[in-house]
Amino acid sequence: MMSMNLQKDTFTGTINFIPPLYKQRYQFIKDLVIKYKPKKVADLGCADCTLLWMLKFCNCIEVLAGLDIRENVMREKMHKLSPLPGDYLQPSERSLTVTLHHGSVAHKDPCMLGFDLVTCIELIEHLEATELEKFPEVVFDFMAPAMVVISTPNSEFNPLLPGVTLFRHSDHKFEWDRAQFQRWAIDAATRYDYTVEFTGLGTPPPGTEDVGFCTQIGVFMRKHLKNTETVNSETHTQHAYKTVFKAVYPSLKDEKYLQNAVVNAVIFEAEIIKRRLLGDFKSEHMEHNDNTEMKVQFQPFMRCSKNLSLAETEKLAADRSMEPFIDGNTVCIPLVKIFSIPKVNQLCGTFEKLSKLIAGKVALSSDGSAVIVISTYENEEQDY
Ligand code: SAM
Repeated sequence: MMSMNLQKDTFTGTINFIPPLYKQRYQFIKDLVIKYKPKKVADLGCADCTLLWMLKFCNCIEVLAGLDIRENVMREKMHKLSPLPGDYLQPSERSLTVTLHHGSVAHKDPCMLGFDLVTCIELIEHLEATELEKFPEVVFDFMAPAMVVISTPNSEFNPLLPGVTLFRHSDHKFEWDRAQFQRWAIDAATRYDYTVEFTGLGTPPPGTEDVGFCTQIGVFMRKHLKNTETVNSETHTQHAYKTVFKAVYPSLKDEKYLQNAVVNAVIFEAEIIKRRLLGDFKSEHMEHNDNTEMKVQFQPFMRCSKNLSLAETEKLAADRSMEPFIDGNTVCIPLVKIFSIPKVNQLCGTFEKLSKLIAGKVALSSDGSAVIVISTYENEEQDY
């Protein structure tokens, strides 16, 4: 063991980073996402979509897109980007759409416009010279996100990696030292109005610090806010990429899922209130052993007209008739009572919305002011 994140096998001379360097790169992006909270993130050269999969759990992200030149590699694991049964059972507050495109970073496609963060992890060293030449214009001028992260191997570290003669991977077209990468990055940043800062991952072993990090990283920030999305989508309407995957996650922003969640919450809360009420009634009833008929006159609350806002009327009504009651074999629970429950209130926002969403889905009193639940009190009695 040499340091907290580096292990050298003395027998083979192999250097192992802990956690592995690819995981550290993904974590680096995740930390940036947590810090800057981008809503739309695109990963160029996304390969098997592992980074996209990690990012789908970041709640700030509403749009995730991946692009790769190798369709089969994306297809192999893309299903891990699909919603899970739990996502349907408990839809999230946020909306999330995940899309994968097949194409090259050397081509412009309007589907890549409007992103806040674009990541290019270990991508540029795989580009042919002609692709690399077009890449800065596509990313910084056409896509023009607020932030771009580019990582690439630092060739100065290579002598420390046993078995690496020319490049670390057979598909690498080049590997740059720090000066080469920084020159290229500063040139692109200057040309397209970005700032760039350099960092890296994978600290070299003690005594070899001068070689720098194993992975070098450039973090680019756009200097000025500009709406390139509309301008570029108007001038560039032709699609160069093929969409190979699209998943729209269930979200409470979608009326269909919101209605489902509200109806379930209302039925659940009404059931709890009913049980509590019947429990109280039963214990009182048994205590006094009387034959009190389970009936209290139901008083539907009416909206007052005397210049009161709906909210004020509701409050008045709530103060007066918030209490649920038993009426024969039904339990009547004023809707204002249910609306006052934080979970229901949070889901609907307004009383009107609650009434609208449950209409026709939950049994209501004739004037719609109370939820009606059938009492199972008599059946429960037989169980004793
Ligand atoms: N970013 C991923 C990661 O860090 O795990 C994968 C990196 S992999 C080393 C490089 C990826 O870039 C490959 O999946 C490759 O297919 C893709 N690639 C190469 N040339 C490309 C191009 N012109 N356009 C888009 N993707 C490309």
